Amino acid sequence: MKNIAVIGAGTMGNGIAHTFAQKGFKVLLIDISEQAIERGMNTISKNLDRMIAKGSITEADKKATIENIITYTEIKDGVVNADLVIEAATENINLKLNIFKELSAVCREDVILASNTSSISITQIASVVKNPERVIGMHFMNPVPIMKLVEIIRGYNTTDEVTKAIMDLSLKLDKTPTEVNDYPGFVANRILMPMINEAIETLYNGVAGVEEIDTVMKLGMAHPMGPLQLADFIGLDVCLSILNVMYDGFKNPKYAPCPLLVNMVMAGKLGVKSGEGFYDYSESKKAEKVAKMFS
Ligand code: NAD
Repeated sequence: MKNIAVIGAGTMGNGIAHTFAQKGFKVLLIDISEQAIERGMNTISKNLDRMIAKGSITEADKKATIENIITYTEIKDGVVNADLVIEAATENINLKLNIFKELSAVCREDVILASNTSSISITQIASVVKNPERVIGMHFMNPVPIMKLVEIIRGYNTTDEVTKAIMDLSLKLDKTPTEVNDYPGFVANRILMPMINEAIETLYNGVAGVEEIDTVMKLGMAHPMGPLQLADFIGLDVCLSILNVMYDGFKNPKYAPCPLLVNMVMAGKLGVKSGEGFYDYSESKKAEKVAKMFS
């Protein structure tokens, strides 16, 4: 696989594009507007600068990485020559189904279609394409250039051949692929999201403040980041969508999102990406926090 199309240049899409491009793949990065593409490319450039400052790559590596990325604002233009498409658009089932319908119509027959979804059924996504056996979940972790895990989700129809191709490809990125089956939230978010939701519930119930909850989990449980800061980093809208998918999928009230999370998302407090969540990321503070997360 040489040509990798990435749909969505947001938090995850730009990280996935960065990671493949740094390993010498040709990346076709697609988003709906020039502004979204520009934001994504700026993030990639800043993250590469951070790697240069740490001495892990050179200026020449940065140039080569950026040159490996071509950008598009139309899916049909970006995916025609793709060997693999990784969809990393907003966590919304209807949006993803529409994207996969379009992919099925415009991609080569032998393409592998992957989704970076955090929780949505790969089997359902695969149900709208011509070759559902070539659809798979490739769930990268945030920040993609740094985190080692790729959760590989086999849909009901995904073949062994496609699974092996994606496992092998993940190894080429120096990642550790781990195969799981297709149930809401898979493994990563089925375990992580109830913890984040409980941390928000603890705040909502007035048991402790933001800093206190995060300190208990960081220092008491040896987590590198507290659950509320992690929620800010993931995006509170993304957390809410994942909880809703698990709540609907299992019909179990234990996955019901905390009303405080629902309120914050409705108020536009989405975490790092909107400048405010449980913490303040207004311009000067944001750079400082994000730098810490990457160090
Ligand atoms: P985001 O909101 O940061 O970015 C989503 C991007 O998709 C935006 O730039 C948006 O313009 C673009 N987009 C929307 N519709 C599109 C379309 N039709 N065509 C092309 N681009 C389109 O979201 P994110 O956090 O990057 O999440 C993307 C996916 O990755 C979601 O499925 C999410 O569940 C998953 N994910 C997120 C995280 C995380 O920590 N944020 C971790 C793992 C997986």
